[in-house]
Amino acid sequence: MTSFRAQVSIFLFCLMLSPCIGAENSPVSDQPQHVNTLTADTDHVHLNEGMYYFEAFSKMSLKQIRGLPDKDWQFHHSSSLFLGSGQSYIWVNIPLQRMPGAPSSWVMTLDWPLVKSIEWFHYNESANAVIASGQFTDWQIPPDSADEFPFAITLSLRSDSVNILYLRMLPSEKALLPVTLWPEESFSDHQLQRNWYLGLFYGVLFAMFGYNLSLFLFLRHKAFAAYCFYVATMAAYTLIMNGAGVAWLWSDYPAFLAYAYRLLVPLGFFAALMFIRQFLLLKHRGVFLNLSSQIVCYLWLAILLLAPVVPAAIVIPIIDIFGLINCLFAIGVSGYLWMKGDKSAKYLTLSWSVLIASTVILILGLNNVIPYVIELHYLQNIGVTIEALLLSMALAERINRDRKMRSEAQNIALQMSNEAAKAKESEVAAQQRLLGIERRVKEELSLKVNEQTRELKVAMQKLQIMNKELERLSLTDPLTGLANRRYFDKRFSEEIQRARRNQSLIGVLMLDIDHFKQINDTLGHQAGDHVIQSLSALIQRVSGRASDLPARIGGEEFCLLVCNESKGRIATLAESLRESAASVPVKYRNEIISYTISVGVCSVIPTTSTNPSALLKLADDALYQAKKEGRNRVVIASDQAIDS
Ligand code: GH3
Ligand code: MG
Ligand code: MG
Repeated sequence: MTSFRAQVSIFLFCLMLSPCIGAENSPVSDQPQHVNTLTADTDHVHLNEGMYYFEAFSKMSLKQIRGLPDKDWQFHHSSSLFLGSGQSYIWVNIPLQRMPGAPSSWVMTLDWPLVKSIEWFHYNESANAVIASGQFTDWQIPPDSADEFPFAITLSLRSDSVNILYLRMLPSEKALLPVTLWPEESFSDHQLQRNWYLGLFYGVLFAMFGYNLSLFLFLRHKAFAAYCFYVATMAAYTLIMNGAGVAWLWSDYPAFLAYAYRLLVPLGFFAALMFIRQFLLLKHRGVFLNLSSQIVCYLWLAILLLAPVVPAAIVIPIIDIFGLINCLFAIGVSGYLWMKGDKSAKYLTLSWSVLIASTVILILGLNNVIPYVIELHYLQNIGVTIEALLLSMALAERINRDRKMRSEAQNIALQMSNEAAKAKESEVAAQQRLLGIERRVKEELSLKVNEQTRELKVAMQKLQIMNKELERLSLTDPLTGLANRRYFDKRFSEEIQRARRNQSLIGVLMLDIDHFKQINDTLGHQAGDHVIQSLSALIQRVSGRASDLPARIGGEEFCLLVCNESKGRIATLAESLRESAASVPVKYRNEIISYTISVGVCSVIPTTSTNPSALLKLADDALYQAKKEGRNRVVIASDQAIDS
């Protein structure tokens, strides 16, 4: 049962209330003497109706204490709550009246383990002597103790007069005085019940610890580790404060209790803060919540490190006040986040509220504000258990929710990336189609261009041919195929230039068929044409050289341009032409047509003043001369005529 009283101090309220309770203490003279009566049907009695105490600053003897005037004894109203600094001895005086029929053997338990030493004296008034006494020092459980839990004393009460139980205690840090009296038989039932209860309580905590530890190992989520840390500190705290640790686990090291409160409360709050930070994701809730919760964590760590070296009278009030602020901060943060719709914060607020409510109810009971019953002790542990269960469930729910949200987000991301990939694919396909179309269009275009270029080339070639033909036609006489007058004039000017540059001789022969009109008149125009064609062939044949240029310059008049020849050769050529024409008649149909030609010749080495028409005129004059002299002859223009 020690446990419940001890846990009160976990949550500070008792500590905050302590000063008020202290204020209710008053001198004995103002209070009626209260004797606890023990009857036959008493199952157990909590001595919480108030008790007398005396704070001694030295280790006084019982004799000195009994010699104290009544007014020196203080009446402690609620009996169960008590402040002690650890510096002074607390004497308590508990009068007990065993009624007839009540059992004689009783067990007194003091459910507060943070006591360095307790001496007890059983004084009987009728015997006027101490009839039994004993002591616990340095947390060692004596062999004759009624319980393995600290502290239980067996009393054999006499019924003939009042028994007074004196206790002299040296608290280690702070003290409560929850004293209970049990008939010996009831006490063993109580022990059994307590062991069952504590077994169940630690069983649940251990199960929660193991379950969340395995979740941490599997899922590697820090929140589970923080939960385990928190539950472990709560378990450690309660094990020490309810005496179960001493009874079951570390009976060889009870001195650890000297620092239990100042170490385990900061450690517990530190663990709680760490858990809250993880559970409510305070890291991601803005600068204020993140920073302030971090600062509170660091402050608890600092207190934890300083606690063993700073005197209890200083450090314990700091722990108490800071613990209260911490509780308000945690509930405030959690409530605020709940208001903002955070589901996890709701669970945290509820579970903390359950724990705080159970603690407050216990404190009220201990202070007689509400009827004090033994079940109140269970209430706070039930609160711890509910808190542990609720938080574990909420944690699992939150982690599941997170995982679900993460997996949903992953699905959405996957879906989006699939869609993006599809869109990319169709974009690429569209681009490829577009490229294909572009390529085909280009190919078709290039084919068309090539075709058209080819056609154009053919057309150009045709055009060139036609142009050449046109040019040829424009420079050729259609009847004879010889050069016409135009071409002759052009070439004649060029050849004069060249002859002038080369200072070579250039000769012009002008030929005219004699009496041609008669041929036409007698044999017809076509016969005339035939004669013209025959003479042109004759001129080509006789002149022979490629450099010579024969041309038809009029109806039946021809010119022969001769370059690079001597005057003699030119004269010979003229003569042979005349002779050939005269000696070779032309056959036309059934007719043999004889004809003659007259030739005028002019040859000259041109100068800058030489002009083509003047030369032609000279040749023409020579021809005229030949006609005049009787035809069928060659006349060569005289040098005088040329020079003039
Ligand atoms: P001459 O000896 O004085 O030269 O006498 P001719 O009759 O030859 O006189 P002329 O040279 O003046 O006459 C040329 C004639 O040639 C006149 C014309 O009818 C004829 N003639 C001109 N061109 C052609 C042609 O292309 N074909 C034919 N058949 N006759 C032509
Ligand atoms: Mg003529
Ligand atoms: Mg003629």
